[in-house]
Amino acid sequence: MTAAATPSRQFAMVFDLNKCLGCQTCTIACKTQWTRGGGMAAMWWNIVNTIPGRGTPRDAFELGGGYRDGVPQAGELPGKRQWGEAWDFDYDKVFYDGNYGGNNYVKPREHDGAAPEWGPNWDEDMGAGEYPHSYFFYLPLVCMNCSKPACLEACPRDVIYRREEDGVVLVDEERCHGYRFCIEACPYKRIYFNEQRAIAQKCISCYPRLEKGVAPACVRQCPGRVRHVGFLDDVDSHIHKLVNDWKVALPLRPDFEVEPNVFYVPPTMPLAFDENGEFDDAASRMPLDELRLMFGPGVEHALAVIDAERQKVAAGGSSELMDILISRNWQDMLGPFPQDPGKLERPPPRNDATERRD
Ligand code: SF4
Ligand code: SF4
Ligand code: SF4
Repeated sequence: MTAAATPSRQFAMVFDLNKCLGCQTCTIACKTQWTRGGGMAAMWWNIVNTIPGRGTPRDAFELGGGYRDGVPQAGELPGKRQWGEAWDFDYDKVFYDGNYGGNNYVKPREHDGAAPEWGPNWDEDMGAGEYPHSYFFYLPLVCMNCSKPACLEACPRDVIYRREEDGVVLVDEERCHGYRFCIEACPYKRIYFNEQRAIAQKCISCYPRLEKGVAPACVRQCPGRVRHVGFLDDVDSHIHKLVNDWKVALPLRPDFEVEPNVFYVPPTMPLAFDENGEFDDAASRMPLDELRLMFGPGVEHALAVIDAERQKVAAGGSSELMDILISRNWQDMLGPFPQDPGKLERPPPRNDATERRD
């Protein structure tokens, strides 16, 4: 078990939660690119959950791991029932029994034949709040490339490392013995276990793409223009401006103390209604305590800044912050990774699980 070395630069992402559609295009972009190999059917290195909700795996943020006051915290290993298995569907019965319709429709089943009781993003679009003050938002999740990666510290074989050139956290799959302490230790539960290969696997930040100047697949494919990428030390980048200058991009669950390098622009919730059915300018639908837990004490400042800059533009003024968040030109969001992957020479196929597939 080692402490993470400090890289010379830190790759980071900012996700603007005010623009996420919950369309899961990012999820499928990652799935088709990286997790189609053996033992990866139930892996979703990118997932978009609904908040408030129990997450993927079920109760993901309640399963321990991370640190408290600098002390590593015990974590649980989620089982298949918490992750949700890859489902089968009873196509044969429905399509070939000549009996389609009524109660006979294509239903999911798990490999034991039972109806599933949980799955990735099981509680999608289920909000909270008493009508008419209902609310929810979408929360995209990938590996956070933490500066204090609890997964790395928990590995007894030193198989997890931070790349010197960009701080991307990777699992050396050749050396991994599948102990799964990393899965227990990650407070976001962003590592999966490949039972077929008996190794831990997770989001690799599309490092083979980064090395060619190409943005990660989940970033490039996002139709909502939610995802900005770049390096934290690049003072001209969206990343630096949103995190360090405007301070509107915040770490998720900073109480986990892993110092994540994915940051979130918090959702500006719809206003609550007053007793006359009019919007109440002073009342957000989502309890501030919940937002504070998710994004830390900086969330009030961030929401106030976004609101002030919006009003400035609404009054006819200009705002650098709004220009960045609106991202009229989506390629500006890609920072130093603007290359079109379709124009690159394709490398020879590799024979491992992270091989790029057609
Ligand atoms: Fe490790 Fe989890 Fe942080 Fe990724 S998000 S670096 S898996 S602790
Ligand atoms: Fe998947 Fe790449 Fe996005 Fe990670 S950065 S979730 S590997 S597409
Ligand atoms: Fe949200 Fe973009 Fe993912 Fe769609 S592709 S769910 S808009 S982050």
